[in-house]
Amino acid sequence: MLGLVPVSKRGAGALRGTPSLADEVRLTVSNPAPALAASVRTGFVGAIGNTPLIALPKLSAALGRTILGKAEYLNPGGSVKDRAALGIIEDFEARGLLGPGGVVVEGTAGNTGIGLTLVGNARGYRTIIVMPDDQAPEKYGLLRTYGAELHVVPAIGFADPRNYYHVARETAAAIPGAVWANQFENTANRDAHERTTGPEIIAQTGGRLDAFVTAAGTGGTIAGTGRALKAYDPNIRVVLADPYGSALYAYVKTGELAFEGDSNAEGIGIKRIVANFRGAPVDDAVRVDDRTLVEMAYWLLREEGIFVGGSAALNVAGAARYARTLPEGSVVATILCDGGDRYRSRLYDAAWLAENDVTPTATDLSFL
Ligand code: PMP
Repeated sequence: MLGLVPVSKRGAGALRGTPSLADEVRLTVSNPAPALAASVRTGFVGAIGNTPLIALPKLSAALGRTILGKAEYLNPGGSVKDRAALGIIEDFEARGLLGPGGVVVEGTAGNTGIGLTLVGNARGYRTIIVMPDDQAPEKYGLLRTYGAELHVVPAIGFADPRNYYHVARETAAAIPGAVWANQFENTANRDAHERTTGPEIIAQTGGRLDAFVTAAGTGGTIAGTGRALKAYDPNIRVVLADPYGSALYAYVKTGELAFEGDSNAEGIGIKRIVANFRGAPVDDAVRVDDRTLVEMAYWLLREEGIFVGGSAALNVAGAARYARTLPEGSVVATILCDGGDRYRSRLYDAAWLAENDVTPTATDLSFL
């Protein structure tokens, strides 16, 4: 929305007669302050955050505990990673490392790249994105459409120098003046959530919250939000929801990195401790398998009208399971990380589900 002013309230420009759309745009862009109501957000960047906190009524009724989903899929780039992307870019700017015409490089499962590319477009930066080749095809398509320079590399373990993380670092190092976002080790990621996601949840619940349950990819969301929640009330439980194939569940439970099994969940689960996760105030962990994730994704869509990606579905399942361990009437918040559109050729494709032997069958919540 451009925040156009009614003709009667315009300044001298309005005296030239009915302005063309271009004139109107110029009028408000050159002098936006008096025209904009407090609720108008400026630009892509201004539209990030302040997402709705959605109580899931049927799930909450079935559990006797309130489950709240922070609707991060309603961010303008479509995911929770818009916050981290903006936080990382603003940190580079503040440190004088990024300015007009600058280049931002990142290795990503997709969403951070999407956020960086769109923030970069708005701010005048070129974006180079390195992605492993095993992610949902929709994300590569979006990145290309948005104007990122996309490099797709084999999905290979972290120990291999061809891993997307290392390729991104090397790519940035080879371009003079380019910055490497490094969402795993750059704690501007976590700080963005401590500054925004956590305080928003406190304000939206009036502080009446018993637990916060979410998965970790970089750990920025759980660590940053968790820190803000704990600072407000140390009794709020911060709980990791982890897919199989990730080492964080064992780490939270035993202090040792260990993993078993595997998962098709995208953007979450990690086998090493990175700076954004290190020291996160995590009290407990729950593990959620892919079948439960898929059942929950379809249950949310069919019963609540909420269309989300796999990590969000895993989060809701984890939140529901953890909520059941708390007294009736407890309030548990989680993160709806991104939308289902991004996974229409996988999680929401019958052939893909059948191939992966996770075709949903549930007609109720018995899978929980
Ligand atoms: N869900 C999805 C779909 C993601 O892309 C990510 C980011 N990798 C996450 C969840 C996890 O967020 P974080 O990096 O803050 O742990």
